[in-house]
Amino acid sequence: MRPEGASPPAISLLHDARHGYGSGMMQNPPFDTLRFPFPQPPAPAGPIEIAPGILWLRMPLPFRLNHINIFLIEDGDGWAVLDTGIANDATREIWEALAAGPLAGRRLTRLIVTHYHPDHIGLAGWLAERFGVPLLTTQNTYLQCLTISLSPGALEAPVYRDFYIRRGLKPELTAAVSTLGHAYLKMVTPLPPIFERIADGDRLNIGERSFEVITGEGHAPELAMLYCAKDKLFLAGDQVMEKISPNVSVWAVDPHGDPLGLYLRSLKELKTRVANDVLVLASHHRPFYGLHERIDELAAHHVLRCDAIREAARTPKTAAELLPVVFHKPLDPHETSFAFSEVLAHVNYMLREGTLAWAGPQNGIERVIAVGPAGLQRHINSPERAGGNF
Ligand SMILES: [Zn+2]
Ligand SMILES: [Zn+2]
Repeated sequence: MRPEGASPPAISLLHDARHGYGSGMMQNPPFDTLRFPFPQPPAPAGPIEIAPGILWLRMPLPFRLNHINIFLIEDGDGWAVLDTGIANDATREIWEALAAGPLAGRRLTRLIVTHYHPDHIGLAGWLAERFGVPLLTTQNTYLQCLTISLSPGALEAPVYRDFYIRRGLKPELTAAVSTLGHAYLKMVTPLPPIFERIADGDRLNIGERSFEVITGEGHAPELAMLYCAKDKLFLAGDQVMEKISPNVSVWAVDPHGDPLGLYLRSLKELKTRVANDVLVLASHHRPFYGLHERIDELAAHHVLRCDAIREAARTPKTAAELLPVVFHKPLDPHETSFAFSEVLAHVNYMLREGTLAWAGPQNGIERVIAVGPAGLQRHINSPERAGGNF
């Protein structure tokens, strides 16, 4: 059950939106507009108080993205915990050290999980049992995790394999995608048999504070965020982070899905629901100010990718052939499977908006082609699409 040395957590692969796997063409605008009041991250068992009654701590991850932020929210005589870290001995030891050290004398009151990715939910089952706390999360988060646990083999169904092959992925890479469910299970302890559902629009009273639950889409279904307007705090999960852009992927179970469209819609909605002067407490990298600017950057990043894909698809291309257009660095099989799924997200988005069309299958392999060169290119490059509307 030790994930060290295993593949990275597929479903939480995140890329550096600025440097990523790509080149300058894929870079986001500079982050000069963001401010970082706490530039130094905490040591694993040394939480930092970043607002009255809000502690920031970090758990290591054995991947290129080498940490996750955990936040503790004062909750009466104890602490509510937001996210858990991955299920491995190192993370368990840090939780034990916290309980015996900095948190000694204060109980954990409840565990809130933002989404089903293993770095966020991995130790939920263990923490709930070890500290006797209830799990609060969205229904989709709970069921998504449970589904993978109950039938990981289902992901290897021939129809899923064919989906990837038809879109140009080589058979050996297809196998890597198919076995992601097994990697996931190594990083997640079995969930508690019951949970408390939280949903968009709920009010969650934690200690003296009242948080609005806002759910987002695109990176993970029904990803939960917490917003305390009064204290200008926004716990954003993986939805909006500095420096990196959350992975947005099409999976074979929902082959025509549009997670990128959902993600962009979610970003737009966040701008209307969450004020720009909040301190953004994201699950990776540093807390920051500049939520709306960062949202614009993330949206513009995806527009640039769509531009690049469209340019390359002036002649018919498979999704696999579009990979180097977006990701310029050599990728290992695991990274390739994620990069591929992210390219598919852009392809499906562009098929829906009409800037790409299917070129028709050849030898069972499907290719897309750019539609309407001049006019639609202007549409993609329009200020609105570049973020002015967000
Ligand atoms: Zn995630
Ligand atoms: Zn994450």
